[in-house]
Amino acid sequence: MRCSRRAFLEAGLALPAVLHSAPEPGGWRSSGPAFSQDSSFDPWVEIHAENLRHNVTEISRRVSVRPILAVIKNNGYGLGVVNVAQLLEPQPEIFGFAVVKLHEAFSLRDAGIRKPILLLGPFDEQNLADAVAREILPMVYTALGPALEKIAAKQQKPVSLHVCVDTGIGRVGVPYHQAAALLGDLAGRHSVHIEGTMMTFTEDPDFDKEQLGRFNQTCTALEKEGIALGKKHAASSFPLFQHPDAFFDMVRPGMAIYGIYSENEFRHMGIMDLRPAVSLKARVIYAKKLRKGDSAGYNRAYMAKDDVWVATIPVGHADGWPRAAAKGAKVRINGDLYPVIATVSASHSIVEIGAEEKVKIGDVATLFDAQSGSRPEDVSEACGASVYDLTMHLNPLLPRRVV
Ligand SMILES: *Cc1c(COP(=O)(O)O)cnc(C)c1O
Repeated sequence: MRCSRRAFLEAGLALPAVLHSAPEPGGWRSSGPAFSQDSSFDPWVEIHAENLRHNVTEISRRVSVRPILAVIKNNGYGLGVVNVAQLLEPQPEIFGFAVVKLHEAFSLRDAGIRKPILLLGPFDEQNLADAVAREILPMVYTALGPALEKIAAKQQKPVSLHVCVDTGIGRVGVPYHQAAALLGDLAGRHSVHIEGTMMTFTEDPDFDKEQLGRFNQTCTALEKEGIALGKKHAASSFPLFQHPDAFFDMVRPGMAIYGIYSENEFRHMGIMDLRPAVSLKARVIYAKKLRKGDSAGYNRAYMAKDDVWVATIPVGHADGWPRAAAKGAKVRINGDLYPVIATVSASHSIVEIGAEEKVKIGDVATLFDAQSGSRPEDVSEACGASVYDLTMHLNPLLPRRVV
């Protein structure tokens, strides 16, 4: 083993505190606590509080200070749903949060989050009563009037909710041509307070315009009848770049908050300066020289054309690192980028270092971070993995560390 105990300890100074007490390579035990859940080599996720704040400020500027409903579904896009809510809640630009899973809404309230929470996902009548009791706003698109009456009677105040209108995405939402009946019914009940009316774009730039027209017509007709629709909102990250006429009363981005451009062509348009707020890192667990003709990976996916140094990183598809990464993604070690080769297996990836032994056991490998060349968008561009998968598929059990 090439790395000295001292070199490893020094490198270890950069590690998150939670990982410090791990046993050292070679089976030594440090004098610290005798037991740690995580090996100091295991992958970890870093959340950059400053970049998160910067992105919120950028979005706010872009939308002329309209309120931001921060979408933090699917474990806060991989950053940790409670982490993200706690970091964002103090920012005045943040109106509230949107999640899909009921348990995420509850865990936010359990963690002391006070701002409004919109539940984008499904619920049964009992779920609805429980959610309302914890001031979680349901997103409604079916004839729930009678159930809402019951809940309102029990809690002795109207149920606040948002109504979702389907203008062409065909997923959830009342079809726009039937929206007047539903909104009319809900608005006519004392037990209901319509706090918002929303839609989702398909992100097909031409059809988006058609969708926007449908939404505007539906809303205008209802407002003429005196029906109060609350805050209208439609813009996720894509429309923040493409459709300023769809910012309405509030915007509803997810990915942009995490500092990642959802489309590569947005990166150089100068509309918003987004800075990735999430990194994935691990430590090199092995470095070795393959001889000409040696193979690497399942199915011998890689054959060494010459003698070559390779390094093994303990990150695989079970951690959320895509299999496609072996098609050209690069990993940064000691400032240099090295291609992922062979195959990404459940818990390992192999990178090609080259003719020289430039990497040793214990070096930090950055799979993505905020630096140019290893941003999530760079990984996505190099190997075709979606930036949404890069963050949302991060294994929820990996340690999260706010930096
Ligand atoms: C996920 C989601 C968003 C946020 O989308 P991004 O592309 O991440 O900005 C907004 N609205 C709804 C209904 C969503 O499901």
